Amino acid sequence: RHRLEQQAAHAPAVTRDGHRVEVVANVSGGEDARAAVAGGAEGVGLLRSEFLFDERPDAPSEEEQAAAYREVAEALGRERPLVIRTLDAGGDKPLAYMPLPREDNPFLGMRGIRVSLDRQDLLRVQLRAILRAAPLANLHIMFPMVAGIDELRRARAILEEEQAALGVTAKVGIMVEVPSAAVLSEVLAREVDFFSIGTNDLTQYTLAMDRGHPQLAKQADGLHPAVLRMIAMTVEGAHAHGKWVGVCGGIASDVMAVPVLIGLGVDELSVGVPAIGAVKAIIGRVTRAECQELAREVLGMATAAEVRARLAPYGG
Ligand code: PEP
Ligand code: MG
Repeated sequence: RHRLEQQAAHAPAVTRDGHRVEVVANVSGGEDARAAVAGGAEGVGLLRSEFLFDERPDAPSEEEQAAAYREVAEALGRERPLVIRTLDAGGDKPLAYMPLPREDNPFLGMRGIRVSLDRQDLLRVQLRAILRAAPLANLHIMFPMVAGIDELRRARAILEEEQAALGVTAKVGIMVEVPSAAVLSEVLAREVDFFSIGTNDLTQYTLAMDRGHPQLAKQADGLHPAVLRMIAMTVEGAHAHGKWVGVCGGIASDVMAVPVLIGLGVDELSVGVPAIGAVKAIIGRVTRAECQELAREVLGMATAAEVRARLAPYGG
């Protein structure tokens, strides 16, 4: 099994009936990106830019950020897709140099794109730093925690200004990790190039269960049928407008979940570097037709436990 996974890691992932699924990696910096490519990743589906902002007394300069994004871009080369997510601060991700006001419900408060739209000075610095990598990369920019079209339009307008000033462009997408974005995916899809589903947050917000809660986190399962229906809706909305959909939350790295995600029509899986081989290997063992049947079946179930029981034969 181990050797098969290693072989699989360096070949494109194709189902037995010839359907290609892109397998890319979640990374937090240049070293990670080099490890991802060495491990067989076909690109980066999520660069969590928080690594640049964590645990420091001041904001990183444009120059410093640009150097970090350039390092990741160089690890990937010009062809492999690179998706850079703008700062996703707030909620469980505090910033030392920018104390956010205390909130009763930080997960429902100033988080992700809301922080960036409130601090547009910081957003513009980050976007310029990211865009400086455009000539070196197959560059995609992604906004986190988008709940609706207003946030998307405001963020895009700022990006377009910075793009025009620098004379470069990038593809633009959003994380789908808030239920309103999944439900309205058909509307949002008209104004983006791609979606990436953040099942960690989408699960917590769909089930109203804190992803880090000591008693509840275990029940907050991305294979809950309610979450799977959100994913199905998102794929449908995106494909109606010819846009691609990735999954970058933890369930993309869960071998048991992969056949269902393929069956739901997900185009790209962005996984932890250690999971690349196992995810590509399971893709090579199934057919798309079988996955579609499986997806239909589990969408009709009532609990995550039932779904997991049905998927057990695919588990590691
Ligand atoms: C997610 O929410 O699934 C996700 C990928 O983003 P993060 O875990 O960084 O919040
Ligand atoms: Mg998230």
